[in-house]
Amino acid sequence: MKKALLLSLLLVLLISCSEPIRQDRLVMGTNCSVSVFSKSDEKEIQSCFEILSEIEKRISAKLVDSEIGEINSAAGKNSVKVSRETFDLVKRSLELKELTEGAFNPLLGKITSLWNIGSGDEIVPDKQTIDNLVHHLEIGAIALDEDNLTVYLSDENTALDLGAIGKGYASDVVSSYLKEKGIKKALINLGGNVYAIGKKGKDKNWKIGIRNPEGNGLFTTVEIDEGAVITSGSYERYFISDGVRYHHIMDPSTGYPANNDLVSVTIIGRDACLADALSTAVFVLGEEKGIKLLEKLGIRGILLTEDGRTVNV
Ligand code: FAD
Ligand code: MG
Repeated sequence: MKKALLLSLLLVLLISCSEPIRQDRLVMGTNCSVSVFSKSDEKEIQSCFEILSEIEKRISAKLVDSEIGEINSAAGKNSVKVSRETFDLVKRSLELKELTEGAFNPLLGKITSLWNIGSGDEIVPDKQTIDNLVHHLEIGAIALDEDNLTVYLSDENTALDLGAIGKGYASDVVSSYLKEKGIKKALINLGGNVYAIGKKGKDKNWKIGIRNPEGNGLFTTVEIDEGAVITSGSYERYFISDGVRYHHIMDPSTGYPANNDLVSVTIIGRDACLADALSTAVFVLGEEKGIKLLEKLGIRGILLTEDGRTVNV
C-alpha cells in the first residue's frame, strides 16, 4: 500500500515536472509570460517580473521619469547621469544603428511619438513636420560620456526610443538571471518575442510558432534548442486613415512606415537584443538588402512577403 502511494506520488511529480508552471503579466504595454518546468524553480518567476518592471521603469520612452524619459526631457539643455545598465544599452543601440546602416535608429523618438501608433487616437502627422525631424537623426545629436555615465542629446529635435530593442534586451537580462540561478529549462515570452532556455526535452528542440499576419493561427514554426525567436510585423500595431494602413515600423530615411513587400521578419539567435534590432532593421531594409545583411552577419531569419512567400535565410 505504502509502495503504491509512493509510486503514485512519484507519477504526479513527474507529470507536474513536464508541464510548464507559467505566470502572465502586463509589462511594457504587452502580455509577458515566464514558464519554468520544475516546481522548485517557480519562486524565480516573481523575480523575473520584478526585473521586467524595473527595466520598463528605467528605459521606457513613454515614462517621463524613466532614465530615457529624463534624457529626452533634457534634450538641447543638459546631460543626464544614468545607471551603468542604461548607459551600456544606449551605447549598444548606437552600435546597432551603425551595424544596420541606420535602418534601426534609436534616435527617432520624436518621430515615433508624433505618430504615436498603438495609442488608439492616431492621426497622420503633418508632412512638413516629419520631413524636418528626419534631418535630426544623426549620431552627432548624441554624446556619451563613459567616465561619468552621462548621456546628452545635443539636438532638442531628437529623442531616444528603445522600443525596437527593449523586449529583446529584457529577455537577455531575464534569461541570464534564470541561468545564474541554475535553471536549466524555461520559456520567456514578451509579447510574442520568445526566449528559450535549455532543450525542450532529451534530443527535443523547442517549436516556436510564428503568428499568421492574416488573422489567427500560425504560418510556420521554428525549431531551436536555445535562444531567441523575435518577430517584427506590420500587422502588430497600425491604424487606417483614408483607406491607407500606417504601421509602427518606421523608415528613418523618410519618417514614414517602412513601405516594401515585407509583412513580417523573424530573427533567430542567442543574442536577443541583436535579434530584436535586426527584426526591425531587416523589415525597414526590405527583402533584398535585408537578406544581404543577415547573410553578412551569419544570422538566421524568416521573411514573409506580401504575396505570401516565405524566405528562409
Ligand atoms: P519592433 O519592430 O521590435 O519595434 C518597433 C518599435 O520600435 C516601434 O513601436 C517604435 O517605438 C520603434 N521603432 C520603429 N521603427 C524603428 C526603427 N526603424 N528603428 C528603431 N526603432 C524603431 N506599448 C504601449 O502601448 N504602452 C506602453 O506603456 C509601452 N511601454 C513600453 C516600455 C518598454 C520598455 C518597451 C520596450 C516597450 C513598450 N511598449 C509600450 C511597446 C512599444 O511601444 C513598441 O510597440 C514595442 O516595443 C514594439 O515592439 P515590436 O517587437 O512589436 O516591434
Ligand atoms: Mg525589434
